[in-house]
Amino acid sequence: MKKNILIVPGDGIGQEVTAVGKKVLDKIAEKYGHEFTYDEALIGHAAIEATGNPLPDESLEKMKKSDAVLFGAVGHPKYDNDPSAKVRPEQGLLKMRKELGLYANLRPIKLFDELLGASSIKPEILKGADILFFRELTGDIYFGEKGRKDNGDTAFDIAQYSRFEVERIARKAFEAAMTRGKKLCSVDKANVIETSRLWREVVQQVAKEYPEVTVEHQFVDATAMLLIKDPKRFDVVVTANLFGDILTDEASQIAGSMGMLASASIGDGTGVYEPIHGSAHDITGKGVANPMASVLSAALLLDISFGLKQESEDVINAVDQVLKAGFRTGDIADSSTPKDKILGTDAIGEEILKRL
Ligand code: NAD
Repeated sequence: MKKNILIVPGDGIGQEVTAVGKKVLDKIAEKYGHEFTYDEALIGHAAIEATGNPLPDESLEKMKKSDAVLFGAVGHPKYDNDPSAKVRPEQGLLKMRKELGLYANLRPIKLFDELLGASSIKPEILKGADILFFRELTGDIYFGEKGRKDNGDTAFDIAQYSRFEVERIARKAFEAAMTRGKKLCSVDKANVIETSRLWREVVQQVAKEYPEVTVEHQFVDATAMLLIKDPKRFDVVVTANLFGDILTDEASQIAGSMGMLASASIGDGTGVYEPIHGSAHDITGKGVANPMASVLSAALLLDISFGLKQESEDVINAVDQVLKAGFRTGDIADSSTPKDKILGTDAIGEEILKRL
């Protein structure tokens, strides 16, 4: 198979972890006789520094032309500490999602058995948890009108959803539920928020097309509690952009660490595959970032964008084997991990490559 993959490392540890993700794709190409060609593009702080623009047109064009994008993360402390900055790295990320029509963000939350001890949740509650989140990605409060009034003393962000936007993400989630445990939980705040009432109405309507799927509706506050209390009760979860952003970070603790969680953003055109974590400036340049989320994002890329299921499983198995051999990065190590088994970004990447 011949494919063009665009590598978009972005900022901070994004650079370090996508380098490992790319090596894994290379290894898969070599092993299975595929021909993957690569290009790189700038986004975020790195793009602002080079061009003044968090998503230059050239990067966007490259994204649109490629068969899939392996993305890192954006963000820089300079902007986090300066809310008045007009040009921000995250604008590049939001524009990429909007321009590529990436309305569905898939986040599989699955705990590798070896990491049962790495989570702050009790192992007996966690074991067997396997959740697939569908976070809507191009609507909600993130993309509505925002601004200040009263001389800047009042701020507003408008949350907005159309029937069409809810329907298409709901359908994707129902389709996925049909291939899994046939259970779908739709999360909203329909007791208070009008966009949530439309959300629930549309999900109930779409549910009629999938009579085999058992549907439940939960409020977001209750879901936050249930994810920790009983994560095994969930199969597929579908929710709006803001709720999904928060709940999936919470759910990352089910998988042991943010460094283990991959995501796929899909829609009308090129798919973008990225870890759920950010640019993690507290550990940037130290060579300790966990690259597994990027490696598992590469596995999602192979599966979803290229239909290469076996290759994708091969990558997931290699990660599993590395964990079984006892190797850890600092974020997933615990007090029982021997010092010589705690590896840095590149060294654990090499262990994954060896097993491929
Ligand atoms: P973060 O995800 O970057 O880091 C949160 C914590 O998790 C940090 O302590 C970090 O060291 C740790 N961590 C994250 N990924 C790790 C990995 N692979 N290995 C080991 N430890 C890891 O979130 P934050 O600190 O809230 O934000 C930092 C910057 O990232 C901000 O500028 C924020 O805007 C940006 N951000 C970007 C994205 C994205 O690009 N998709 C997502 C979230 C945050």
